[in-house]
Amino acid sequence: MMHGAVSNILGAVGNTPLVKLNHVAKDVVADIYVKCEHMNPGGSMKDRMAINMIDQAESRGELKPGGTIIEATSGNTGASLAMIAAVRGYSCIFIMPDKMSIEKIAGLRAFGAKVVVCPTAVEPDDPRSYYSVAEKLATDTPNSFYTRQYHNMDNPEGHYQSTGPELWEETNGEMDVFIAGLGTGGTISGTGKFLKEKNADIQLVGVDPVGSLYYDFVKTGRVTKPFTYKVEGIGEDFFPSTVDLDILDDIVRVDDKECFLMTRELVQKEGLYVGGSSGAAVAGAIKYAQQTKKKENIVVLICDSASKYISKIFNDDWMRDNGYLEEESGLGVVADLLKTKSSGVITAKPTDRVRDVIGKMKDHGISQLPVVKDGKLVGALAEVDLLRFLVGGEYSLNSTVEPLVESQYATCTPQTKLELVQTMLGDVKMSIVLEGDDVIGVITKIDLIDFLVKLAS
Ligand code: PMP
Repeated sequence: MMHGAVSNILGAVGNTPLVKLNHVAKDVVADIYVKCEHMNPGGSMKDRMAINMIDQAESRGELKPGGTIIEATSGNTGASLAMIAAVRGYSCIFIMPDKMSIEKIAGLRAFGAKVVVCPTAVEPDDPRSYYSVAEKLATDTPNSFYTRQYHNMDNPEGHYQSTGPELWEETNGEMDVFIAGLGTGGTISGTGKFLKEKNADIQLVGVDPVGSLYYDFVKTGRVTKPFTYKVEGIGEDFFPSTVDLDILDDIVRVDDKECFLMTRELVQKEGLYVGGSSGAAVAGAIKYAQQTKKKENIVVLICDSASKYISKIFNDDWMRDNGYLEEESGLGVVADLLKTKSSGVITAKPTDRVRDVIGKMKDHGISQLPVVKDGKLVGALAEVDLLRFLVGGEYSLNSTVEPLVESQYATCTPQTKLELVQTMLGDVKMSIVLEGDDVIGVITKIDLIDFLVKLAS
């Protein structure tokens, strides 16, 4: 073979550039660098794990010559698998949620793949969900291999063997923090495991969109109710086996608007032609750096290209229709509402007696409250739960409230926009305001109504 060539396009995966951010992060003390995974030949970091999943399936005899690769994908894993399939002579069927951009669907079809689109707004175990449809197609298609990226440990292993060592070598180990968004969690879990083995002091920080399960689970250990959001590729409404949340040192939350505005800034101010989850990861990294205020090296993994989102993030009509281009939030933020509430926050402990919690609710005229253990939020209690419990007659007024603590809440921060709180309250009973780990307030529907009435009068 000629000097300087690789034997096929798969040999061009990896060795992506690491680039310093010079404009969007200039107000933080830390130096932020981005690992440009969108420059992989299949368009994202998924090339690394897809090659490992296919290599391992071939070596185990699970994928045979002329076989069909099946996958449930938000687009990028599909693109990587389709590229591998083209090189190695396989067919592909991809199952995608309907919130994904048309560019991604068309991109997969360009490789000759079949694409089946399924509704996003159904439970994962609904027969119409993209997970269920993928399962069925995998069973019904002869000589097929379902890569199952959410439960295939060759996914994180691909990053353990590729992304981790590459970052370690190119930074000479001078990295203090590694930040990435979590979808399957393969990227952060595999890369993070390698980096921690090299230097246990490297901090691993996940970035999660508002609406996904991960953030609240990492912060409070509770599974709160997920709701829909627009950023693609990150966040989940279930726990994949490929994610190792224990390895994370911290997690930061971002909302759609910040993700998309940051994505545009990355393109326009840094010349980085990247997509929405890259904006999410950088917005998360900046928030993290604002909290730590340390001079340190932060490496952020950015995922895929702007070309996949031209019809959305880079389309002013779409951005305006979804309220992402409005100058300022019309209603204000959580901090504005909290200022108008007279009393501080009333909380309970899991060891409190039912009798005392009822007394507390009566004294303060409230119907729900957060439950806090050792200074950390562990759940919520609502009047209706206490009522159901008392009517059920299983325990006495002297029982502790611990078994009644539940998860029908979402969390927000003082900076969260009230429009977003309103969306949350469509799905849950209350939004609990956190500042770091501290519970500093509670917002219920009536609080929001009160505030809006005051605003209007
Ligand atoms: N960003 C994008 C655009 C993605 O497609 C994905 C994969 N779902 C991720 C981030 C998250 O990567 P991982 O699945 O490895 O956590």
